Amino acid sequence: MDFTLNEDQQALQETVRKFAVSELPEIALEIEKTAAPASHDLIKRYAEMGFLGVNLPSELGGLGLSHLDAVLVLEEVAKISPAVAFPIFESCFGPTLAIAHFAPDELKQRIVPKVCAGEMIVAVSMSEPDAGTALTDLTTKVETNGDTVVVNGTKRWCSGAGHADAYVVYCRMSDEPGAKGIGAVLVEKDRAGLSFGKPEYHMGFRGIPSADIYLDKVEVSVENIVVPAGGFRQLMEAFDLERCGNTTMSLAIAQSALDYVLDYVQDRKQFGKAVVDFQAVQLQIAEMKMQVDASRLLLYRAVVNASQGLPSVADSSIAKCFANEMVRDVTGKALQLMGGYGYSTEYPIEQKMRDGWGWGIAGGTIDIQKINIAAAMVGRRFQQR
Ligand SMILES: Cc1cc2nc3c(=O)[nH]c(=O)nc-3n(C[C@H](O)[C@H](O)[C@H](O)COP(=O)(O)OP(=O)(O)OC[C@H]3O[C@@H](n4cnc5c(N)ncnc54)[C@H](O)[C@@H]3O)c2cc1C
Repeated sequence: MDFTLNEDQQALQETVRKFAVSELPEIALEIEKTAAPASHDLIKRYAEMGFLGVNLPSELGGLGLSHLDAVLVLEEVAKISPAVAFPIFESCFGPTLAIAHFAPDELKQRIVPKVCAGEMIVAVSMSEPDAGTALTDLTTKVETNGDTVVVNGTKRWCSGAGHADAYVVYCRMSDEPGAKGIGAVLVEKDRAGLSFGKPEYHMGFRGIPSADIYLDKVEVSVENIVVPAGGFRQLMEAFDLERCGNTTMSLAIAQSALDYVLDYVQDRKQFGKAVVDFQAVQLQIAEMKMQVDASRLLLYRAVVNASQGLPSVADSSIAKCFANEMVRDVTGKALQLMGGYGYSTEYPIEQKMRDGWGWGIAGGTIDIQKINIAAAMVGRRFQQR
């Protein structure tokens, strides 16, 4: 087993790191201040650099590289902030992957190249007011009417709502109950009958817009069906990769908090010496390092095992769950190690703590990942009803 990145990967990581450190901090600060999402200019820039299609097939406009390569790119950008990294997360790990893997050819050809070129943002809309963890209770319904499908329902917590150009909407596509009746359809933003609720303000995630989506007799072509009824399993397989993107966001936030605080404890003096000279501080930074490294190895395992395919539910849930708990703990430790300065908005750590917390809710809560892990261990799903 080789734990080192090859030369190409090291070069890719270095290139993205240099770009991120020199060009993104100002933009990230502005986004944090205004809560305006990443601009189209920035998204175009990412597209020119290939960041939006790292692990998407070259026939569809991507770079055709591995999921690990996409992790490396996302991490370097997300160390600056999750909001500037969000377009990369959405294209390399989000709903575009479900389209690239499972949608009919025509839809793939129509959508994926545009995403890679920075001409289209696609968000995912699964959750509903009464269907969060119990996603298979969702009620948004699709009825087929000749060559069109008509979508009716209300969606909640969609990251990118209002900003994205199209939405992969999970919906009930047959009368079969539970997961069996669920499929997904791509709904473009400009469709008649689609509207958005008021902007939601989260504790963190500024610059990643969130809102309800109302679908009132929205008509789209049958060619927009991503997967038909019965395709829930495929959607979840693609979601196993989204979990790895979520893990990367958590890891990047934690790594950047650790990097920051490591400098801080060497600079900050109390009792006439750097605070890193106190053993209690040494123990904290050693623990943070172990947590971050362990998280990185779990993530790399999940994406490397997946190769060009999709990760297993066990590998991706373990990686996500560990990283989600780890980032809360590591950013909390970093904040504490900076005393009053950690708690001040003049310094970056309180934002990292707020941003870090959300990943353990988004993409399925920490506890439901643990249930997935236990199910994989015993080889059967546990009945939640
Ligand atoms: C920052 C952020 C971004 C998001 N982005 C999106 C998005 O882009 N698209 C989208 O569709 N959704 C998105 N979501 C929604 C997210 O997927 C849901 O919030 C999440 O699945 C939990 O659902 P809920 O909020 O309804 O909580 P609930 O399901 O009501 O859960 C409440 C609590 O009960 C626990 N619980 C529930 N059922 C069980 C069980 N069977 N066993 C153990 N514990 C259980 C949960 O772990 C949780 O602690 C986002 C959420 C956040 C916070």
